Amino acid sequence: MKTRVIQNDPGAQPPTDSSGAVIEDVAVVDASAGAHGATSVVSARDVTRQYGEAETAVHALRGVSVDVADGRLTAVMGPSGSGKSTLMHILAGLDRPTSGGVQIAGTDILELSDTQLTKLRRTHIGFIFQFFNLLPMLTARENIVLPIAIAGDKPDPAWVEELVEAVGLSERLSHRPSELSGGQQQRVAIARALISKPTIMFADEPTGNLDSRTSGEILELLRTSVSAYGQTTVMVTHDAHAAAIADRILFLADGRIVKDIGSSSTHEILGALEEVTVR
Ligand code: ADP
Repeated sequence: MKTRVIQNDPGAQPPTDSSGAVIEDVAVVDASAGAHGATSVVSARDVTRQYGEAETAVHALRGVSVDVADGRLTAVMGPSGSGKSTLMHILAGLDRPTSGGVQIAGTDILELSDTQLTKLRRTHIGFIFQFFNLLPMLTARENIVLPIAIAGDKPDPAWVEELVEAVGLSERLSHRPSELSGGQQQRVAIARALISKPTIMFADEPTGNLDSRTSGEILELLRTSVSAYGQTTVMVTHDAHAAAIADRILFLADGRIVKDIGSSSTHEILGALEEVTVR
């Protein structure tokens, strides 16, 4: 079957090859899918999220549209209270918008029951958190393979070994989280997020609880997972050094995306952050 990538044009005729036959397998690239024109794996359209009602209502998101491009690392920055966590939770299917549409891996989440949404998350989404969120009574190895065990599957030993090697944990697999440093715990969390090869990985302040040297190591690992494994990643961060590893940086202010830039230096990111913070 012939495959051709086209820009998304709702009015376009079905594409044909030189013989006039319709090309069926067409990867449609939304023209707004990130700065690089790659296929989007998660998208939000005019998303609003309101907490509470009437005069006490908080408008955490006020109409956000974004396409997260496949195989890219997207950072989300912005002042405290600008809506970063709310947006991440909605893009990850942990929360639903008040209005607007969200697609995860081609599925419109508004049409799913809570059970279906949980299943979708299990299949497509990996998470890394600031405080690692490992299970204290399990060893590093048991924590890493937990998502596979929950899904009722058996881990592929070759993939486990490759991953453990890649995150540098070969010597620590039988240790419990309390016997590991913060950096090592985050490595376990990264391996756990990657074990099921998620369509998209969300990292919530992944370096927020680490010293600067360890942060650097963890950022290098995240960057490698994008570059070597093509792992689509969205990272919420306050840290301009962290955002500097991203291919794209979105800035939120007061519930809206106010700036959307490509790969930038720490210095440029700090400048952009200052600009959106004083608005
Ligand atoms: P950020 O992650 O950028 O700090 P959040 O998404 O956490 O921002 O919050 C955006 C706004 O929504 C803030 O004003 C916050 O106080 C409010 N908010 C977040 N979660 C809730 C909630 N569960 N109930 C009420 N207000 C909330």
